[in-house]
Amino acid sequence: MFKEIGVADNIVKAITEIGFETPTRVQQEVIPLLLEDRGRDIIALAQTGTGKTAAFGIPILQNLDVKKKKVQVLILSPTRELCLQIADDIADYAKYIEGVKVAAVFGGASMERQIKAVKSGAQIVSATPGRLLDLINRGVINIMEVDTVVLDEADEMLNMGFRDDLVAILAETPEDKNMLLFSATMPEEINRIVKNYMDEPVEIVIGKKNSGAENVEHICYMVYAKERYLALKRIVDFNPEIYGIIFCRTRRETQEVADHLMRDGYNADALHGDLSQAQRDQVMNKFRIKHLQLLVATDVAARGLDVDNLTHIINYSLPEELELYTHRSGRTGRAGRVGTSIVIATIKEKHLLKKIEKQINKKFTTAEMPDGKKICERQLFHLIDRMEKVEVDHSQIEAYLPDINRKLEWLERDELIMKFVSVEFNRFLDYYKNTPELSVQKDVKSTGKSFRDEVNFKRFFINLGKTDNLKPGTLMGLINDFTGFADIQIGEIDIQRNFSFFQADSEYSDTIISAFENKDYRGREISVELSENNRRGNSDRRGDRQFSGGKKRFSRGFSGGSGRSGGGSGRGFGFGKSRRFEEFNRKERKFEGRKRGKSGKKEY
Ligand code: AMP
Repeated sequence: MFKEIGVADNIVKAITEIGFETPTRVQQEVIPLLLEDRGRDIIALAQTGTGKTAAFGIPILQNLDVKKKKVQVLILSPTRELCLQIADDIADYAKYIEGVKVAAVFGGASMERQIKAVKSGAQIVSATPGRLLDLINRGVINIMEVDTVVLDEADEMLNMGFRDDLVAILAETPEDKNMLLFSATMPEEINRIVKNYMDEPVEIVIGKKNSGAENVEHICYMVYAKERYLALKRIVDFNPEIYGIIFCRTRRETQEVADHLMRDGYNADALHGDLSQAQRDQVMNKFRIKHLQLLVATDVAARGLDVDNLTHIINYSLPEELELYTHRSGRTGRAGRVGTSIVIATIKEKHLLKKIEKQINKKFTTAEMPDGKKICERQLFHLIDRMEKVEVDHSQIEAYLPDINRKLEWLERDELIMKFVSVEFNRFLDYYKNTPELSVQKDVKSTGKSFRDEVNFKRFFINLGKTDNLKPGTLMGLINDFTGFADIQIGEIDIQRNFSFFQADSEYSDTIISAFENKDYRGREISVELSENNRRGNSDRRGDRQFSGGKKRFSRGFSGGSGRSGGGSGRGFGFGKSRRFEEFNRKERKFEGRKRGKSGKKEY
């Protein structure tokens, strides 16, 4: 109970209205300490979601001199969203305290209003470092009399390159101020701040140092790099109730993954720094109110987002700075719920997983990529579940019942169920019927070729076509399985009614032809031979073709899974790791690195 740890009645009343009944762990530790020993410096290792805003906000309010109309408390946080949220939360806790004024100071919005808010006598200022420093330098904010400084998400502020701004801000504050530092992780740079600016701080650790949240399960799926997107789709399809963030490394990758998910029929959108603030706000709002099921985001852009009930975090690619993994995974498993953090990784990234395991002090569970059957089963029962629970509006439906009955009276119960289920389910079944397995198979051979290698294609004829329900993905699965090579490069695939053509790396012509000998597909003997018309095949270069997106052109990595969640037939044109795509990424990283190096700040 909050009253028992010394919280004043007027604050208890306000927080009870918000729904806080019992203090969280970080609140139990921090609140009494600050109420009993004003001026005690504290380092709290606690992630967002642990209730840390109230942990510092409540004692700050209780210790405030409401009559003094000067800035007494400065709360610094890395993003505009967090800054605003802190200001709002504290104002809520202060609902029944007369005369408390909280001002929010952050970049990307009108300075005038913020200056006015501070000058109207705000005792508490919640700020992002850049804008605050700007206002200090303009002489509009004076922080020389603050008695408490809170650094919230200190590691994130340092990650974002705010170190110099923080040092400049702290230099403006009195020596004997009270300092409270909240951080999810403890990188070395924080220790430096602690040494230089804090006085014998009490260290409070919620969970283990640098560890992930306790109730988060960490799962990894090992896949081929080129199959990342297909793996992502499977993971999402296997978890129909998913409400989560998919993390990517670059803005480009973020947008591409989101575009592909949307095109494949998923309820997803992108959040990254190439979007305007208004666009980002719109996406975040949609996600918060669950109008979006999946948010594909960069680390920086997702920072402002505070959602407590995420079921999953998916690491589409691992973060460049592994420390960020703790932040990513800490976004699920909050407020007593369980959560899952999934990593889609390649064999080459295994050593990074080991490092992360050390960091979070937990092991990854390596999971088998669910096959089509398992996914269909999950989806089917999810559908049945939904059907069972759906609320029927009798007043609306009953009027139509006699007509519906008349129309369906010839159907038996089982038949009826099957038909209703098939309406939703058929397209989905279709997609997964013949898709090959995805997880890395340890015994598959590799051609050793990378996408950068130039490939001469040869054109092959195969006696299977649409009537055999052959799809590009199925065909590639067959090539994969029969040859035993995981990465023979495949060019154009042209599926006709009763037969098809495909292009493949000419070096593997004999392998492919002999691999298909004496094999059958759905009871039909397969015949594969070199096509007479090889002119185009010989001159085609993979790197030039990947982004063409022309019909019937498939990159090997992404065509294996044409289709959408719950059905449809969206196709993954040209999204494989082509030479251009990789080059673009490399350049972008370099560019970002340069920018970072210069300004010391990371970009959204
Ligand atoms: P924070 O870590 O401050 O971002 O808080 C995470 C979430 O937990 C917020 O939505 C708070 O409103 C909520 N919260 C904080 N303290 C409590 C509490 N004692 N009881 C219930 N919910 C809380």
